Amino acid sequence: MKANTDRNEDRTALVTGAGRGIGRAVAMDLSRRGIFVYINYRSGRETAQKTLEAILAENGEARLLQFDQTDQDACEQAVKEIVRERNRIDILVNNAGIRDDRLLAMMKKESWQRVIDTNLTGFFHVTKPVVKYMLKNRTGRIINITSAAGQTGNPGQVNYSASKAGLIGATKALAREVGNRGITVNAVAPGFIETDMIQGMDREEIAKTIPAGRLGKPGEVAALVSFLCSPKAAYVNGQVIGVNGGMI
Ligand code: NDP
Repeated sequence: MKANTDRNEDRTALVTGAGRGIGRAVAMDLSRRGIFVYINYRSGRETAQKTLEAILAENGEARLLQFDQTDQDACEQAVKEIVRERNRIDILVNNAGIRDDRLLAMMKKESWQRVIDTNLTGFFHVTKPVVKYMLKNRTGRIINITSAAGQTGNPGQVNYSASKAGLIGATKALAREVGNRGITVNAVAPGFIETDMIQGMDREEIAKTIPAGRLGKPGEVAALVSFLCSPKAAYVNGQVIGVNGGMI
């Protein structure tokens, strides 16, 4: 007996970086809508296992899928595995990302490269094999988790802002490439969300800069992602939608 009512689905989703933070909330929200979810993680197996257990506890269906999105071969193998097991892939949420902040004048090339490789080239590695299947099936939803930093730029985050602005450009271009094949590609741009990623930041000071007067919750990002994955969002394509408490 399924726990939730919204479960008349047969779709399959891949959520990258779904072991914790926003990715976990997205995986759980999609699962509550009856979608089979592949929970990708890079090295955090324990946290990914917790996401899996939380989904199974709600009678959802999911499976762990380890790969590092900076490794193109690993991404291609992982997508093949999904298609072999499920014979389909309907939803891709490109959520995995990192930051490595420093003022540009002090930034080592390594910090620049690591962030671009993960946040932007990782998108390419995962999305290319997925979009091939979606093109064949003439249906699909791709959601890219960008950032307010990619919209306005953020001091100390030139690398991160560049990667996230790049993701916005990629979203818009891909939306135009595949929009006539039943596939939508949109970007969700969170402001400050309570996850491990903002560890070490001064939450109280940040909250003062946000009209809502508080940071966001992972579930508030996940709710928008789920809407964009739903049939109701079929005519939303190539958009960048903020979840930022009015910050931008
Ligand atoms: P977290 O730091 O909590 O989680 C990041 C996730 O990304 C982890 O699951 C991690 O996996 C995964 N990951 C990192 N590198 C790789 C890789 N090479 N391959 C596969 N997975 C990887 O971050 P958030 O949940 O906060 O962030 C999720 C997304 O939202 C990111 O893209 C981030 O840039 C974006 N965002 C976050 C904001 C915030 O305020 N929190 C604001 C705006 C955007 P593992 O656990 O295995 O290490």
